[in-house]
Amino acid sequence: MQQLKNKVAVITGGNSGIGKATAQLFAEEGAQIIITGRRADVVDQAIADIGHGAIGLVGDVADLAHHQKLADLVTSRFGRLDVYMANAGIINLTTSDKVTPEEYDRHFATNTRGVFFGVQTVAPLIRDGGNIIVTSSLAATKILPDHTVYAGSKAAVAAFAKNWAIEFKPRKIRVNILSPGPVETAILDKLGVSEADRPAFEKHMASLIPAGRMGLPEELARAALFLASDAGSFVNGIELHVDGGMTLV
Ligand code: NAD
Repeated sequence: MQQLKNKVAVITGGNSGIGKATAQLFAEEGAQIIITGRRADVVDQAIADIGHGAIGLVGDVADLAHHQKLADLVTSRFGRLDVYMANAGIINLTTSDKVTPEEYDRHFATNTRGVFFGVQTVAPLIRDGGNIIVTSSLAATKILPDHTVYAGSKAAVAAFAKNWAIEFKPRKIRVNILSPGPVETAILDKLGVSEADRPAFEKHMASLIPAGRMGLPEELARAALFLASDAGSFVNGIELHVDGGMTLV
């Protein structure tokens, strides 16, 4: 059964990791996919990999004009939107004493402002009864070392999403939070772990997760499909933790 047949779905940061795996699954489930990402070559490759007529838009979610370009693209190609997944995000871990104003602003411009104004811009295109997914993080609820600024940027979007779940009530637009634990994606390359230390890092991470391993992008994609499809038709305003149980320990 194609759970997203004839639906139009935008996934920001859909050219890599969780976003790309979600775009792939949504496309297989019948959705028309629009992905966004920062690098043209990576977006082009992702579109080729996803297939199913997926289209892409290159841009920076911190740039408000990018959201309008996306809205214009959706309007001209499809006239409406069913699912908007605000997924693009960055991470750079450090103790608070080392966070520069530039690094602080970069996190909030991408992870927080990018989500807020993305939703504000595309919301008029989302049909009544459609839905929004915001990718937050385990770090928004669980205290993890050196995560302070990232955690703040992700806690903010979780709060936005819960407020939107109420604000969009008149239009019956569901808004939910996808909250990943550690997942094997390119974002881990940004954690400052050298190639040589990577196996030890991953072993350590796995030891912290009740499931005994890190997650896979495809596992997050299946959770996103639940939220985006009619399988989640009565699910609104939740924070879906997909973290192998790490929230608990
Ligand atoms: P990833 O690096 O593979 O993907 C991140 C995506 O965001 C990329 O497509 C990138 O192009 C896009 N992006 C980043 N900054 C952008 C900008 N300014 N404008 C436009 N696009 C931008 O990493 P991922 O793990 O797939 O991350 C997806 C989301 O999941 C992020 O929001 C991340 O914070 C969140 N997350 C990831 C993990 C994890 O362990 N992988 C854990 C918790 C939360």
